Amino acid sequence: MAEQDRWHGSPESVAYKPGKGLFFGLIAALAVTISLAGFFFWYVPTIGLRNIHPALPYVLGAIVIAVSGALFFSAAIIINAALKGTVPFYSPSLRWLIMKFYLPVMSVAGAVFKIPKIKTEQAFVAINNEMVRKMGRKFRAEKLLLLMPHCIQFDNCKIKVTRNVKNCAGCGKCEIGELLSLSERYKVGLFISTGGTVARRKVYEERPDAVIAVACERDLASGLQDAYPLPVLAIVNKRPRGYCMETGVAIEEVKQAIIELAGQPQGQ
Ligand code: SF4
Repeated sequence: MAEQDRWHGSPESVAYKPGKGLFFGLIAALAVTISLAGFFFWYVPTIGLRNIHPALPYVLGAIVIAVSGALFFSAAIIINAALKGTVPFYSPSLRWLIMKFYLPVMSVAGAVFKIPKIKTEQAFVAINNEMVRKMGRKFRAEKLLLLMPHCIQFDNCKIKVTRNVKNCAGCGKCEIGELLSLSERYKVGLFISTGGTVARRKVYEERPDAVIAVACERDLASGLQDAYPLPVLAIVNKRPRGYCMETGVAIEEVKQAIIELAGQPQGQ
C-alpha cells in the first residue's frame, strides 16, 4: 500500500483546534452570502424580471416547476419508504437521496410526531437493505467483509479476538466461533471491532466491495451513512442482556446475507 493511502488516524482521535482565521472566514462568507441573497430578493421585484431579460420569467417558472416536481416526487418516495419499508425501484440518485436525506428528515419528523428514534432507525436499516438488494450486484466473496461488534464476545472470554479473530477457540459460549467457521467456509473476511472509529478504519484499509455489518440500530444508522456509497447489508443484533453486553446475532441471517451478496459457493 502506498504511503499516501495508509490510514493516519481519524479526525476524532486528534484534538481539533481550528484557528481564529477559520471562524472569521466562515462568518465573513456567511455575511456576504446573506447580503447577496438580500440584495437579489430586493433587486428582482424592484426592477422586474422582464426588464432584466424578456425570457427570464419563463426560465424562472420552469426552474420552480422542475424543483417543485423533484421535491414532491422525492417526498412521495420517502413517505412510501417510511410507511411500507420498501422502495419502488433502485437508482443511484434515489439511494443518495434516502441515505443522505431520509434519516435527518425522518429524525425531525419523528421528533415532531413523537415517534421513538429506534423506529426511524429500524426503518432506515430496512430501506437501506432493500436498496442494496435491489442493486442486484454480486461480489467476489474475498471482497466481502463481515463487521461484528466486540460486545458479541462472551464477557469472560480472555481471548483477544479483536486483534485476530482466528485466536477464537470456538468454545461455543458466544457466536464468534460460528462466525469464524462461516467466514472460512465462504472465504469472506471477518473483523471484530471495538468501536465505530476502528470499524471505519478497517473499511478504509481493507477497501471491501461490500460489507455485512451487525450492530444496534443507532450504530448501524450512523455507520450506513458514513459508509455510503459502499453497499452495506445491515443486521440488527440480539440484546438478551441489553445494549453493549454479550449481544448476539442470528447466524442464519449472516449466512443468507453472504449468499445474497456473493452467491452460493460451488459444491455447497
Ligand atoms: S467462541 Fe471464541 S470468542 Fe466466544 S467465548 Fe469461545 S473462545 Fe471466546
